[in-house]
Amino acid sequence: MTTHHYSDIELRPLGNSGLKLSCLGFGAAPIGSVYGPVPEEDGVASIREAFRLGVNFFDTSPYYGGTVSEKILGKGLKALGVPRREYIVSTKCGRYKEGFDFSAKRVSRSIDESLARLQLDYVDILHCHDIECGSLDQIVNETIPALQKLKEAGKTRFIGITGLPLEIFTYVLDRVPSGTIDVILSYCHFGINDSTLVDLLPYLKSKGVGVISASPLAMGLLTENGPPEWHPASPELKASAATYSKEKGKNISKLAMQYSLTSKDISSVLVGMNSVQQVVQNVAAATELATFGQDHETLSQVEAILSPVKNQTWPSGIQQR
Ligand code: NAD
Repeated sequence: MTTHHYSDIELRPLGNSGLKLSCLGFGAAPIGSVYGPVPEEDGVASIREAFRLGVNFFDTSPYYGGTVSEKILGKGLKALGVPRREYIVSTKCGRYKEGFDFSAKRVSRSIDESLARLQLDYVDILHCHDIECGSLDQIVNETIPALQKLKEAGKTRFIGITGLPLEIFTYVLDRVPSGTIDVILSYCHFGINDSTLVDLLPYLKSKGVGVISASPLAMGLLTENGPPEWHPASPELKASAATYSKEKGKNISKLAMQYSLTSKDISSVLVGMNSVQQVVQNVAAATELATFGQDHETLSQVEAILSPVKNQTWPSGIQQR
């Protein structure tokens, strides 16, 4: 079967993996109702539209919506009716509704549970989810070796680590054999209000590690509707983001999306989407950027408003709903 994509979202290589990810990736946290209730049909329709428009990369976790996100993603991908090799799927292990558990035993069982919910034989990437909430030495000595066995068993093609503080990536990568970790997933550190990931990119490139950057909208902060109630940003940062978002005729989400897509050293920018409309808007932001470039005038206006709160991070391990 041939598949027709109706847009040409750029594909970018992921480190040394050989995978080519759409530079705009589908974040499946919102379809687990993490940002408010989302009907299953909307999740499935969003997946279909994203794939139709050229998005080939989908990210989830057993944590999102306490397994709901994985189940809906599984349904949505199956409904595409295309060969498995046409899409790239990442899920995670070690973080659950019940809490964190990075033991070899738990993560080995976890992948089987995830594959069943996703209705897949393998995932492309299995990440250790939010590793700063566990022991980094356990990640190095126990979790990663367990994931290597899962890789050998063909349950995942590649191994990744995710988390908020950037130091965790160098800590772990400096302590595992080269080539063991294929990819890192960072979030909220390559956007208009926080671009600190940029300093780490040369190191990651030198290690041949692929880079995924998530949450270009800073987990809803850079949207007209504003952040969810659980959002961990300081009141000052929330107020600054809201000041701009409420200005008439300015689309802060589009600007933020485009800003995050500008680094070619980032293979994919994962944005969470829960409706066909959001998919269409974000894909349009990506294709418009490729054609016209960044709107520098508007960007500098927003940067001026956000400059007093630039690069302000927040505590990690927040409990999403
Ligand atoms: P995000 O910054 O992508 O923001 C998502 C929010 O913005 C949702 O409420 C969504 O409905 C809304 N939105 C999306 N497009 C919009 C548009 N065009 N206009 C208005 N609102 C829009 O935050 P996120 O979803 O948390 O992050 C993206 C994905 O990255 C997640 O879904 C997840 O897959 C991944 N992620 C992983 C980790 C981790 O591994 N630790 C952490 C954060 C995110």
